[in-house]
Amino acid sequence: MNDYFPQHAPLTQFPVQDNCLQVGGISLTRLAQRVGMTPFYAYDRQKISERVALLRRHLPADVLLHYAMKANPMPAVVQHLASLVDGIDVASIGEMKVALDTIVSAKNISFAGPGKKPHELSCAIAAGIVLNAESLQEVELIAQLGEQLSITPKVAIRINPDFELKSSGMKMGGGPKPFGIDAENVPEVLMRIGKLGLHFVGFHIFCGSQNLNATAICEAHTKIFQLGAQLAGHAPSPIRLLNIGGGFGVPYFPGERALNLAAVSENLQHLMSKMQQQFPETRIALELGRYIVAEAGIYVCRVLERKQSRGQVFLITDGGLHHHLAASGNLGQVVRKNYPVLIGNKVQGIETEIVSVVGPLCTPLDVIAERMQMTKAYAGDLVVVLQSGAYGLTASPTAFLNHPLPMEVLV
Ligand SMILES: *Cc1c(COP(=O)(O)O)cnc(C)c1O
Repeated sequence: MNDYFPQHAPLTQFPVQDNCLQVGGISLTRLAQRVGMTPFYAYDRQKISERVALLRRHLPADVLLHYAMKANPMPAVVQHLASLVDGIDVASIGEMKVALDTIVSAKNISFAGPGKKPHELSCAIAAGIVLNAESLQEVELIAQLGEQLSITPKVAIRINPDFELKSSGMKMGGGPKPFGIDAENVPEVLMRIGKLGLHFVGFHIFCGSQNLNATAICEAHTKIFQLGAQLAGHAPSPIRLLNIGGGFGVPYFPGERALNLAAVSENLQHLMSKMQQQFPETRIALELGRYIVAEAGIYVCRVLERKQSRGQVFLITDGGLHHHLAASGNLGQVVRKNYPVLIGNKVQGIETEIVSVVGPLCTPLDVIAERMQMTKAYAGDLVVVLQSGAYGLTASPTAFLNHPLPMEVLV
């Protein structure tokens, strides 16, 4: 009946009771009343904890687990994760402030990203967090600022490797990149770090985001360990930390399957055992964003109007790309695909239909679901976008058309 709009694999992360989605143990209808407005994002605290527990169960015991908070910087979420992870990775001074408000010790917070400004670096040095330096120029600036503050800065080098992470949704390393220091230039920078007397911590290598291919991730990890070992010989002091990045993907689209964490872990265990012999001081950190929070979050908006146009049904809602750019397909998707979307207060419809869910913006890009099969819905019903805990609100152009901001709740 509907062969050109494949359905998503059943996504079972949230229970359904009386045909209504339950988030954080609360029915969606009740939660919407409690929040008092739509649209909103809801993040399920227990789901986040379970995700970290899953990682801890599978990963080698001595892997450090860091949270890359740009995936979801809501302070309540970061506070919740602070008690569960070993460190936080920040990418701006705003994120740094949120991370410093948690119980995570400054030495376990790292700051990455190109174009860090002197003021930001000074604050970070004073805080005592680790700076992942992205260029020689930045290393020089860090040294200069440390001297002014009479503090020895903690520095790690972010390396732009000479290989790519295959089948990644978004490539962040390999070839010419604004991120990190090209691997071939790292020995020179290490020598400079030694001369400048900075506190050298180790290496940071992050290749790409949203990867569901365990083989590709294993291959990248193997190469990261090789590169780390090879460059360690040039370092002014032993490598204390090898941060191997994040990038574990989650399934969003029909046909996608969850990452084989066991395969990634087995390879990692093997690499770590070998590393341990040659570099006993080196600890390994994974910095995951998406994988930790994506599946724990939903975006909820309300149907304002049901409209027919030349045989097609449109549900016009109060939410859209200004709150959830990723679900609209405009955040790095080449061919637009539907996120998993459903009618949260009528999950299993007696009557279903093919509809497009759109937002209130005056642009054809403002699409939440394009011709998806779902329960027949009317004004007042709640549209839910699943898999929305990462790169949702934080990655959206909220000022576009100047509609009100959505709420965010952790339940
Ligand atoms: C964004 C980012 C991450 C997290 O990536 P995910 O794909 O969300 O796991 C990790 N490290 C750095 C440096 C990043 O910029």
